[in-house]
Amino acid sequence: MHELSIALNILDIVQEECRRAESSSVAEVVIRVGTLSGVDTEALTTCLHVASRDTLMQDARIRIDRQQGRGWCSGCFTEFEMEDILTLCPGCLQPASELRAGQEMQIDSILVE
Ligand SMILES: [Zn+2]
Repeated sequence: MHELSIALNILDIVQEECRRAESSSVAEVVIRVGTLSGVDTEALTTCLHVASRDTLMQDARIRIDRQQGRGWCSGCFTEFEMEDILTLCPGCLQPASELRAGQEMQIDSILVE
């Protein structure tokens, strides 16, 4: 499963940060996920809870910050909000010719205790 490998990757990074900060537990992890990233945030949250069991991250609050996707239409020179990759330009109903935001999937912040 895609989300499980992302969760394990996040867990690795968080544990590495914890070691560097000589901390024994993580209070909060904020993850930024774009609406066009293809990541299922519910599945990701579930995977993170499962993967972090018995780790430094087990009691951490996990916050997912959804980043609104934006596309550009070269037909009518409009930038528009995209809920998912299939959202069409509201002006001419064409698919976006360029994705301008919403493809990110990154750790925004890690708060250690
Ligand atoms: Zn258009």
